Amino acid sequence: MSRQAIICGNWKMYKTIEESKSFVKSLAPLIEPSQALVYLAVPFTAIKAAADEAQETPIVIGAQNMNDISEGAFTGEIAARMLKDAGAAFVILGHSERRQIFGETDEFIRRKVTKAFQEGLEPIVCIGENLKEREAGHAHDVLQKQLEGSLPTLTASQIQSLVIAYEPVWAIGTGKVATAEIAQTTHQFCREWIKSKYGPEAASAVRILYGGSVKPDNITELMQQPDIDGALVGGASLQPDVFSQIIHY
Ligand code: PEP
Repeated sequence: MSRQAIICGNWKMYKTIEESKSFVKSLAPLIEPSQALVYLAVPFTAIKAAADEAQETPIVIGAQNMNDISEGAFTGEIAARMLKDAGAAFVILGHSERRQIFGETDEFIRRKVTKAFQEGLEPIVCIGENLKEREAGHAHDVLQKQLEGSLPTLTASQIQSLVIAYEPVWAIGTGKVATAEIAQTTHQFCREWIKSKYGPEAASAVRILYGGSVKPDNITELMQQPDIDGALVGGASLQPDVFSQIIHY
């Protein structure tokens, strides 16, 4: 089965409404035609404006986080239906910054993934080991634990829209990219895990993105790996010209 690649920008806590609109306006003419789907995970405040601006373009707008509850007394939180209402089509869940800085657990992320599916948001579920875990030779154990803990039991159709992002924590925002070989071996491990749980068809359908210091000069080699189906891009997604070079890997 051929899997359409996704190149997803993660803007983190950058860009105002006006900056987001102007980015989408600048990026759109730079990416057509593109072999990959182009996603942008923008700040909550910019979802509506960015989605409106992206309407006549292939750019898909999404969010960077959400809560698993539908509504209620949860000051400062945001619900899946609010993201949908604002124009988000997907949501990043379990990013390592959420896990590390905000103490999100696999259990919480699993509830969010369930909710995202219920509300029709495509989840991009992030997993990744830290440097100590990799150096100790425990990367695969850590990833397996995160996969088992963060993913609910999935239906065949949910598998089709599930996206996993492998993001080694030691490569995020550090300029240290995993070698294409490390990334490929790890992606293969994740796909094998999906296969052992859901069978070969599911394993060949699920998309696994790589994230961690992806830049125009390393994307090509990464995308040549058979189990890498795209990239989650932080810093290099903040400028349209740089991001468009990654999109045209
Ligand atoms: C990220 O934020 O998911 C990320 C991979 O960041 P960077 O590309 O800056 O390492």
